[in-house]
Order: sequence, then structure tokens, then C-alpha cells
Amino acid sequence: MSQAHTRTADVCIVGVGAVGGILAKELATAGLDVVAFERGPALQHADYAARDSIKFTVRQSQLDWVRHDPVMQRREPDAPATLRYTTSPANALGGALLHWTGQASRFQPGDFKVFSNEVASGLAEKAGADLRGYDVVDWPVSYDDLEPYYERFEWEFGVSGKAGVNPFEGPRKRGYPLPPLRRNARGEIFEGACERLGYHPFESPAGILSESYRPPEPYDTRMPERPACVYCGHCNLYGCHVHAKAATLYTAIPVALSTGKVDLRTHSKVFRITTDDAGRAAGVQYFDPDGQIHEQRARVVILAAFVYENVRLLLLSGDGGRRTRRGLANSSDMVGKCILAHGDVRAAGVYDNVVVNGFIGPGSAAMRIDDFNGNNFDHAGLGFIRGGTIGTSGGGTPVERVDVLPPGMRRWGREYKEFFTRYYNRMFELNMQAETLPHPENRVDLDPRRKDEWGVPLPRVTFALHENELRLRRFLAEVGERIMRETGASQVWSDAKTTPSRWAGGTRMGSDPTRSVVNGYCQSHDVPNLFVVGSSDFPTMAGYPPTCTIAALAYRTAEYIAGQREWFR
Ligand SMILES: Cc1cc2nc3c(=O)[nH]c(=O)nc-3n(C[C@H](O)[C@H](O)[C@H](O)COP(=O)(O)OP(=O)(O)OC[C@H]3O[C@@H](n4cnc5c(N)ncnc54)[C@H](O)[C@@H]3O)c2cc1C
Ligand code: SF4
Repeated sequence: MSQAHTRTADVCIVGVGAVGGILAKELATAGLDVVAFERGPALQHADYAARDSIKFTVRQSQLDWVRHDPVMQRREPDAPATLRYTTSPANALGGALLHWTGQASRFQPGDFKVFSNEVASGLAEKAGADLRGYDVVDWPVSYDDLEPYYERFEWEFGVSGKAGVNPFEGPRKRGYPLPPLRRNARGEIFEGACERLGYHPFESPAGILSESYRPPEPYDTRMPERPACVYCGHCNLYGCHVHAKAATLYTAIPVALSTGKVDLRTHSKVFRITTDDAGRAAGVQYFDPDGQIHEQRARVVILAAFVYENVRLLLLSGDGGRRTRRGLANSSDMVGKCILAHGDVRAAGVYDNVVVNGFIGPGSAAMRIDDFNGNNFDHAGLGFIRGGTIGTSGGGTPVERVDVLPPGMRRWGREYKEFFTRYYNRMFELNMQAETLPHPENRVDLDPRRKDEWGVPLPRVTFALHENELRLRRFLAEVGERIMRETGASQVWSDAKTTPSRWAGGTRMGSDPTRSVVNGYCQSHDVPNLFVVGSSDFPTMAGYPPTCTIAALAYRTAEYIAGQREWFR
């Protein structure tokens, strides 16, 4: 039995992670009444402060914030799907930013125009790329549209980096608020090798404070001052015990709550968007912590629940997916389609006489090159388009390195023990983040069999790498091995990750309502008071991870919604 809350909120936000935290702060500051739903708990410092490798990296699927809401996953449309626990979105207030790595790069200007620059221009043909089956499009927004909002994220959350050192980066009006993180041995070794090969290494920007920081005017000075990183080295997949890592849990969310305009409901899981007779969003239905169903009305509904959940909620709404499986905001039939990811490739090397001490500091204190990212290199005859960023990578604690092994070596026994004892501290690897192109068979839908503990169908991910990214991965693996050999490593190898990383797509943005779900303001083409914000809106991926671009979209969407005063009279 559904109980309706009588008060109609101005805005209802579903999911309070990176996107939801920024939106709640911005919209409440603009004077709007916000009800924010988060399915997970408000974690306390003690929940994430331990530097416990086993707990956070090995047994992560046992953490409630990972285990709680799994997805079903399969490679082929006809294959049976299996249950998978994902670290993104985290099932906790503040979302996956609580335990992210902190790689904080803007997309490059060309990343927003892949169709124009690389398909329509004839470049794909010159490359000999096989793009059959793909559905490559341009974004409806450009780098210049997002530039001011990238800057907001960098200055409000504190990104450490150096402007002008990456010759491929887009133009920026302001540099970074903080200098780069301290260099480490793997960065120095990588830098030397890349320079000798004629590439352009640079210090990768990081969403981690290199110095203590509070945003200055004209940015949001209500954000609390936070201390600098202490280089504890337990970073990726951990919450930061000193709060040097950018996370909405201890920045934007407390500021949002301090306005008195945000009604935050944790342990409250939304399962449906309700609509009125005119087909506009009327509010949401959700399970409270006791499993009771409630309804909250709102003038505007925003989904900020990450890729799987944004799609799942749309498919569960409208006619509930019962008759057509089309759901809400899906006249284009694009909801769930063309999901994207990175097909990461890794090149590793070991040294006989160099101690790397890779356990020191955060993984995002990295050196990178963009010489093989996006459209920055000549693709003629290569057989593919696009690329990926290449940089030093990898967690440094022993349990995070157990799988960095030369081909053919078993993960047990005497040979393994000798290798690990000798080389644990004398090795490092590069990560190549090969972008995938949009393909309609790569999609999220509702699993026909498996349900969650509330009886709601689980999201089902169908995702395979297709020809363009398979060729790209082989190419990037060769580049990575070339760099590692140039570093002087005594043994070099590469391998490809079997599980793709960093998901996007599924509610693609576009100017054409027949081919996209939302417009450039993340606003549904079909339901004008419904917004979907996050990487699910990306029409194409880039070689970089998504968070800066997600945050830029969130700031821009908040400004757009707050500007529609007539909606809230
Ligand atoms: C280990 C790890 C490392 C990463 N490293 C990087 C990196 O280096 N660089 C980078 O750019 N990105 C990185 N990311 C990705 C980054 O964390 C995400 O891009 C970002 O958090 C996405 O923001 P979001 O708000 O869309 O989703 P999230 O931050 O995950 O927030 C979504 C929120 O919605 C809530 N929610 C979901 N469904 C419902 C529902 N039905 N009802 C109520 N609440 C709901 C979830 O509990 C969650 O709190 C990393 C992610 C992980 C897991
Ligand atoms: S390495 Fe730095 S940012 Fe990462 S968890 Fe440790 S102190 Fe925090």
C-alpha cells in the first residue's frame, strides 16, 4: 500500500552520489525545496577510515555498499547472465566518489564530435576501420559549453594539476587550484622513457589535494577546508581517512544540508517515477528503510543514480515495462542502448636493479601521455578510430598486486612466491584506457528472472567488445610494451582486463529526439520535467574516465533548472 507525502517538493533527486550531491547543493542554494533519496546509508568516518587492504580491495564484494544492489551481466544477447557486484555505484551516501581513484581529467574537445571529425570527415575510411553495427553520433554540447563547469568542479572540489603541460588538452580559462601531487619513481621512469620515444608525458590531474584547501571566491566558500593527502598509499577502493580525496560525502552534501532546504532520506530506494494524466513526471515511489512503499510528489524529478539504475528506473516506470518493455521517456527506444565503457589493457615490467616502491602515495599521482588518445594521432591504415590515455597505474599494497604476473605464471607455489618476493617492489605497470564505441547490442535492460530483495527486476547488462575496440586494444598493448621496454625493464608483458571498466551510456543525450533520450541539459525529450544526469547521458566515450564531465553536466543542469522559475511558482 503506497502512502503519499502531501507536500509537493520542488525537486526530487534520486541518488545522492557525485551528481546528486552537486545537484542538491546547487538547487538548494538557489532556494528550491529538495527531497533527496539515497538507497544506502550515511557512512561514518569509522566505516571507511581503516587502511584495511583485505577488507576494501579483496573482500570488497562483502561490503554492504558494494553487495547490496548487484547487476546481472553477460557478453552476448543469447547468453545466460550472471550476478555481478559492482563498486559503482556505491550503495552509500556520496556514491562511488567515496572510494574513487581520483583521476580528474576533462574530456578533449574532439571527444564531443566523434561523428563529425572521424566518420563524416572520411577519417574512419582512411583508417580502414570497420564500423558496421556501431551507432556513432556527436554530443549536443561542446567542450566550450562545458568549460566553465569543468572549472567549477576543479575549484570547488580541489583538483591538483598543472595547466599547459599536456599539449593535447582543451583550452582553459583558469589553471588548476593546486599544484600536482608529489612525483613518484614510476612516474619518473615513465617520463624518461616517453621523452626518449618522442611522446609528451605530463602530470595527470588528480581529484586529491596536494595542499590543504578551501575554495576561494568566486567559488563556493562554504565548502569545508580539507587537509592535503598524506600519501598513505591505500587509495583506490578506500575512503580517504583524512578527506583529501574529492568526495561529495564530506563536501557538497554537508553544504547542501546546511541550507535547510534539503530533506535527505537515506535507506530509501526509489523504484518508480510516477506520472500525471498529461504524461509529466509527478514524483517517485520508494521503499523506506522498513520496506514500506511511499510516494513523494515533485515538480521536477532528477535521476542521478548512475548508469544501471537510471536505465532501470526509466524501464520500470511509465507503463511499468509490463506491456511494451519501453518504460518512460523512451519514444526513441534508446533507453538502455549503446552503453559504453573502457576495455582496459595493461603493460607491466619488472626490474632487476630498480626499486620502484610502488606502494607510496595515491594511484592518481600518475604520469600520462595523450599521444594515443582520441584523435591525437594518425590513424591511417591502423584499422580503427579513437584511442585511449596511457599512464602509470595500479595499487601498491601487496594484496593489490597479486595478479600482476608474467604470462603463464600460476598464482601459487614456489615459483610464484619467489617471483613475488623478488619483484613485488621492483615492478610497475601502465594502464591503457581503450574507449569503446556505441553499439546498440551493448545495453542495459530488465532481467526477466532475477529480482532484488524488494522484488524488483535487476538491471541486466549485455556488453561485448566489438571489432574497433579489439583492434584498438591490440594497438595500445603494443605501445604500452614499447614504453615499458624503453624504461629498461628486464621482462615486459601486456594483458587485457576481462571486465570492462567505467560505464557510461544508456540514456544518451542528443539534439534528435528520435535518436536520443535527453537533450544537452540532460532533460528528457518526452517528459520535460524529468532529468537524467550522469555518464548514462554520454553519446560516446572518451579515453578518460568520466567524473569531471559528469560533474560539469551536473553543474550545468542545476543552473538550467534553477533558471526555470516559472516551474516553481
Ligand atoms: C573504484 C573506483 C575508482 C574510480 N576511479 C575513477 C577515476 O579515477 N576517475 C574518474 O573520473 N572516475 C572514477 N570512478 C568513477 C566515479 O566514481 C563515478 O564516475 C562517479 O561516482 C559517478 O557519479 P554518479 O553520481 O553518477 O554515481 P554515484 O556516485 O555512484 O552515485 C549514485 C548514487 O545513487 C544511489 N542510488 C542508485 N540507485 C538508487 C535508487 N534506486 N534509489 C535511491 N538511490 C539510488 C547510489 O546508492 C549512489 O549513492 C571510479 C569508480 C570506482 C568505483
Ligand atoms: S593516498 Fe592520499 S588521498 Fe589516497 S587515501 Fe591516502 S591520504 Fe587519502
